[in-house]
Amino acid sequence: MDCLFCKIAAGEIPSTKIYEDEYVYCFKDIAPIAPIHYLIIPKTHISGASEITSENSGLVAKVFEAAAKIAESEGIENGFRIITNCGEDAGQTVHHLHFHLLAGVKMGWGKDAVCPVE
Ligand code: AMP
Ligand code: ZN
Repeated sequence: MDCLFCKIAAGEIPSTKIYEDEYVYCFKDIAPIAPIHYLIIPKTHISGASEITSENSGLVAKVFEAAAKIAESEGIENGFRIITNCGEDAGQTVHHLHFHLLAGVKMGWGKDAVCPVE
């Protein structure tokens, strides 16, 4: 399958690895929007949040377990935000389920942060 993040998880395309276990892979986003900006992906291909089912939803729990471990190991003490973009309106550009982990700065919230267009 011609999927960028499958290739990154398999080590076929280079990335800056932060964490890896049997189920998930975490690496630095190539175009960070926060001082800490990692991507956490399941190693199994799922195209996005709309494709989560009772068969594969356990992988989402593995992603969040990894996030807690990563926060600990990377010294993220002041909190973090996890975002997944799904589909065109959300601006998903890579169609392999991924969770942005953002940290290292005080982040805004509210309608400007959530829904910048109208
Ligand atoms: P999204 O817009 O939610 O689909 O997020 C895709 C993310 O993947 C963006 O934040 C990109 O900067 C990031 N990205 C794309 N290609 C790479 C790459 N080769 N290595 C690391 N991050 C990447
Ligand atoms: Zn994939």
